[in-house]
Amino acid sequence: MPIPREDIYDALYQAGKKILESNPCNIQTSAAGTTCHGGKLPNCCCVGCKHLGPTGCTVESLACKLHLCYMVPKDKDAQFIALRLLKETARLHGVPLLARGDKDQTLGVDKNRSGCWEM
Ligand code: SF4
Ligand code: SF4
Repeated sequence: MPIPREDIYDALYQAGKKILESNPCNIQTSAAGTTCHGGKLPNCCCVGCKHLGPTGCTVESLACKLHLCYMVPKDKDAQFIALRLLKETARLHGVPLLARGDKDQTLGVDKNRSGCWEM
């Protein structure tokens, strides 16, 4: 019996979360606000997102959890590769990656629609 996409989504989300525990984005939070890469970027990629709450993300967005941008230093290649493998696993199992999408939105996406696979 095939594994339900909901379960694959959850497993990939948890795996991505584990990879990001080492904080490759160097996210720092202080009274002045949140920065990544030691203040080189004044706002992380969550800025302006409707899911951003006072203490962080309020949903479990798989696409976001598997994303690292070009600002992340090259010495984080292991994390880039690990996340890339998780993205490929999502693709193989027909789980779309919808940037800033929560679980229901993501799994409701038509996987044949262009632009829904990547951040
Ligand atoms: S959905 Fe993505 S961009 Fe929005 S708050 Fe959550 S992690 Fe950030
Ligand atoms: S992916 Fe890029 S913009 Fe987003 S938190 Fe990491 S370093 Fe910052």
